[in-house]
Amino acid sequence: MLSRDFDAWSEAASRVGHCANPIRLHGSSHTVDTRTGEVLGSFSSKDSPLGVLHVRCGNRRAAECPSCSRLYAADTFHLIRAGVTGGKGVPDHVSDNPLVFATLTAPSFGLVHGTRGGRKCRPFTPKGVSGVCEHGRPTVCHATHDDCDDLLGQPLCRDCYDYVGHIVWQWWAPELWRRFTINVRRALAKTLGVAESRLPDHLTLQYAKVAEYQLRGLIHFHALIRLDGPKTDDGFAPTPAGATAALLAHVVEQAVTAVSFDAPPLYEDDPARTLRFGAQVDVRPIKTSRRTDDPDRQLTAGQVAGYLAKYATKSAGDLVNGDNPHLRRLRATIAEVTDHIATDARGEGTPLREHPYALLGKWNRMLGFRGHFSTKSRRYSITLGRLRRARTRFQRRLSDASRQGKTLDVRDLDDLLADDFEQTTLVVGRWSYAGSGWDTEGDAELAKAAAARAREYAQWRQHTASIRHHRRAIRVGEKGNE
Ligand SMILES: [Zn+2]
Ligand SMILES: [Zn+2]
Ligand SMILES: [Zn+2]
Repeated sequence: MLSRDFDAWSEAASRVGHCANPIRLHGSSHTVDTRTGEVLGSFSSKDSPLGVLHVRCGNRRAAECPSCSRLYAADTFHLIRAGVTGGKGVPDHVSDNPLVFATLTAPSFGLVHGTRGGRKCRPFTPKGVSGVCEHGRPTVCHATHDDCDDLLGQPLCRDCYDYVGHIVWQWWAPELWRRFTINVRRALAKTLGVAESRLPDHLTLQYAKVAEYQLRGLIHFHALIRLDGPKTDDGFAPTPAGATAALLAHVVEQAVTAVSFDAPPLYEDDPARTLRFGAQVDVRPIKTSRRTDDPDRQLTAGQVAGYLAKYATKSAGDLVNGDNPHLRRLRATIAEVTDHIATDARGEGTPLREHPYALLGKWNRMLGFRGHFSTKSRRYSITLGRLRRARTRFQRRLSDASRQGKTLDVRDLDDLLADDFEQTTLVVGRWSYAGSGWDTEGDAELAKAAAARAREYAQWRQHTASIRHHRRAIRVGEKGNE
């Protein structure tokens, strides 16, 4: 902090939102008017505070870059929320369309320790199971585990746990999801009494989903599923009368239960497995009105968007980076299976390039899950790309304004989310990669600390805003009583 270029560093760090691992670029670019050929502006990395241009790393994982992952979480939050309440270019009437929040779980591959909402872990033996397994370990656990207990998610007996079944399920989880969406569409067509191919003339299904790792190393899907009216160019059409959230919830629940997929065996003597989602299916209609004092405590749009945004950044990072006996065994099983497949391929077995599990080893770090952590259907909401473009436009205008010594008028920002600007300018540039990260460990720590302060400040501001909101609500209530 005492170094001579601290101010320049501080400026550079704040321009990338205190990203922990920014990319450094050398080069320059010129903005040219396409009609006249006039150079409207030039920018060179030499003009940057440290003589090199820093660009955000864009990492989605909180453990890698607190700042960029927060930005991603915030974008995901707004994207998900806009699909529930409208806004950001999504029409407000979308909030009238039926919406459910569904959690699709994984089945059991063996008994594991859990919090059970503060009750005893596993006080009873399942039907037909004795109190001790064939390995001499208890099949019951009378402990009450708290949230930070290392035993959570660990099998009661690792030798009883079906590790291979676990991995095969995780590998095909994206296929189960695909089949689930087909089932929902099929069931909707049946309910309406129309051919499946004609369903888009009446209803369209939109969703945003995130995958979240449970402590036992299996993913769950959390999804917001919305029923829109007929397929149109701009989407978001109102749902026809009769298509209610209750109907959608019913259809979704049936569709989850009906999903099954016969997974191909890993190798010759391996059994075929029929994969399904777990028996626990949670489907809840979402109330989209803005009241928050509802006695039923149904989920509100903001809450659901918050959950999903949190899962979206948490899922990819925290658990799979962890280390415990269960996760080690999962990784070891993937390595073993991959070896077995490779050995077979060299001999009489299926050639590697045709093998359905050929890439399993590549996904070892993700515990065999190869799907995306956060996906949405095309017309669910706005896209992340458009949100990012809007931010870039905003930042460009902000820096233009400050360069010209002007203040930015918010009324000039209405078009930030517009599809495309008339292309009257062209940016020509030449950039080369100079490396990534800050120069010293100290710089990286400072950037992380500043990002942490920014997060605390944002939380504090949100907290005080909610207190203010609460007080105002009480005052309004008092007035009503008078
Ligand atoms: Zn970053
Ligand atoms: Zn236990
Ligand atoms: Zn056992």
